[in-house]
Amino acid sequence: MKVNEELSRIRARIMNCTACPLHVGRKNPVPGEGPADAPLLLVGEAPGREEDETGRPFVGMAGRLLTEMLKEAGVPRSSVYITSVIKCRPPGNRNPKKGEIEACRGYLLEQIAAVRPEVVVLMGNVALNSLKEVWKLPGGNIGEISGELYDRGDFKVLVTYHPAGVLRDRRRKRPLFVSHIRLAVKEAVKKRGEGWLGLRLEEFEG
Ligand code: SF4
Repeated sequence: MKVNEELSRIRARIMNCTACPLHVGRKNPVPGEGPADAPLLLVGEAPGREEDETGRPFVGMAGRLLTEMLKEAGVPRSSVYITSVIKCRPPGNRNPKKGEIEACRGYLLEQIAAVRPEVVVLMGNVALNSLKEVWKLPGGNIGEISGELYDRGDFKVLVTYHPAGVLRDRRRKRPLFVSHIRLAVKEAVKKRGEGWLGLRLEEFEG
């Protein structure tokens, strides 16, 4: 099956999913968006109010900051695949519960398998904790394990801050987030070749 067809099939299942209680209060599930062959796949936490209204990921303030930071790191937002651990909005934007994360995890893993990115970027604690055991990532908080590429065979994993966390501590976290994404972009250029977006490896050295 072609990647686009596979992603459409996953999307259709998410749109009709009733596997956890979050389906009751959602206006729109938010499956994710981006090129089907994106070398970078970014994973956030869960849809918020604006994402629930529009059905699109990262469209609120944190999303606008994410778009800016990606650009600063050298890639347009339209070149990466963006999704989240949970596809339906938790009431009042509370943290997703363990059972909800487990119910939804299969969709995320299927999306990763379909897109086959070079780097999966886990943004924030919820994304990190939801896959930490599955991918046997090292212990420690985000500050301790971010900014390094962990090889998981078919792809590498990079941990960084959630854009909403960057919003609350821009001065310190914004440059870190941008440097982490640059590391992921460099890896993507190495793997996909310098033709990807016309980027040159030397732009990401140092
Ligand atoms: Fe299904 Fe995930 Fe939505 Fe729960 S959050 S209803 S598992 S798509």
